[in-house]
Amino acid sequence: MNDLFGTELEKWLPLEKQIRATMADFGFSEIRTPTLEKIEVFSRTVGDTSDIVEKQMYTIHLPDEVLVLRPEGTASFIRAVIEHQLHQAAGAQHYYYYQPMFRHERPQKGRLRQFHQFGAEIIQDPSPRADAELIAFVDTLFRRLGLSDFRTRINSVGCKACRPAYRELLTQFLKGVTGDLCEQCQIRLERAPMRVLDCKNESCRTIAARAPKIADSLCSECIEHHGGVKSALRLLEIPFENDPSIVRGLDYYVRSAFEFTASQPGALGAQDALGGGGRYDGLAAHFGKTDISGVGFASGMERVILALEAARKLPVPTKKQMVFLAPLGMKAFEFLYRLSFTLKRDGIPAEMSYDSEKGLKNLLKLADKRDATFTVVVGDDELLKSVALIKTMKTGEQAEVPLEGLPAYLKNKVIRET
Ligand code: AMP
Repeated sequence: MNDLFGTELEKWLPLEKQIRATMADFGFSEIRTPTLEKIEVFSRTVGDTSDIVEKQMYTIHLPDEVLVLRPEGTASFIRAVIEHQLHQAAGAQHYYYYQPMFRHERPQKGRLRQFHQFGAEIIQDPSPRADAELIAFVDTLFRRLGLSDFRTRINSVGCKACRPAYRELLTQFLKGVTGDLCEQCQIRLERAPMRVLDCKNESCRTIAARAPKIADSLCSECIEHHGGVKSALRLLEIPFENDPSIVRGLDYYVRSAFEFTASQPGALGAQDALGGGGRYDGLAAHFGKTDISGVGFASGMERVILALEAARKLPVPTKKQMVFLAPLGMKAFEFLYRLSFTLKRDGIPAEMSYDSEKGLKNLLKLADKRDATFTVVVGDDELLKSVALIKTMKTGEQAEVPLEGLPAYLKNKVIRET
């Protein structure tokens, strides 16, 4: 879990601005949910056998309930939708979130225990056009953030009707090769055989390549839906690949599952996922009888930053303008103390030394260290003449400016330099 400040945080701000602007362009409105949720919000929906629920949730046991720190966004979102009956509004609804998530994972490059996800959800549109709309949106958002070197891979993971038969087929196949599976997949085999398909272990990958493909087991509705997603993406000219290994680690996905990966090897450490998502019709049923269709995605801010850094595409922070006020003596201090307040109130960043006995040399040194754009020097001589000395730090240029017009002069200069 990282502290974020200074130049590191400065990398985040323009990206956050772009995320919010693009979400707004595509009609997503923000939702913020509490950091703590009842454990059932995730155990019932994400699935008891998922890594997240099984091992990674920060859990708080209270006498009368068990709460967890939110490990992902969609389940909390649907809990909120039902609580506020958001699905009753007319037509499809578009929401986005940008919130910290918490997973007790082994920390490494690109994998943190507190990370920040931005995600978008479209509810109440069961058509494949909504899936394609969302994927096209993510493609646009990533490109606007400066990413160009990423792959979009999609798959269908079937539905309640056709998945059980496929699971059975896959389980039978995997049982024949158990000895070649990694330790974790040998456990997964019984409870979540489809997760073997996206295991990163080399030997498991070889087996996955030979395993029966879900595409051959899909029911006609799922085939039609998947075809619809692909043709809508072609219509929108969004590049994508069909990849049967995309199964996603969460139980609630039906039909569409998709993943966005960084193409540059190593940019994200051992991981390559920039984001992922899928359709989750039926998820709401875990909270009661409500039938809500939905499709969503989530992406990790830290991973996006790593990918942008590797591609040297992080926006260069613009240098902030700052006026440093250097008082020589008590009278000058009082004048500049007031001026500093006036400047800040008028939107001009100003700093000053409260030590009026420091002397000119030391004050200029300090102004330099603080990276001031201009330094305003006022001493007894200047006060007598009703002027201030303004030094442009980069060029060393100096000018005498009447005290009366000083705020207007500085404002004009700062605007010109920005
Ligand atoms: P998931 O909810 O696991 O599908 O993750 C969606 C996205 O969130 C991933 O593609 C990553 O970009 C990001 N993400 C997931 N887990 C972590 C983590 N522990 N640290 C940083 N980013 C993560």
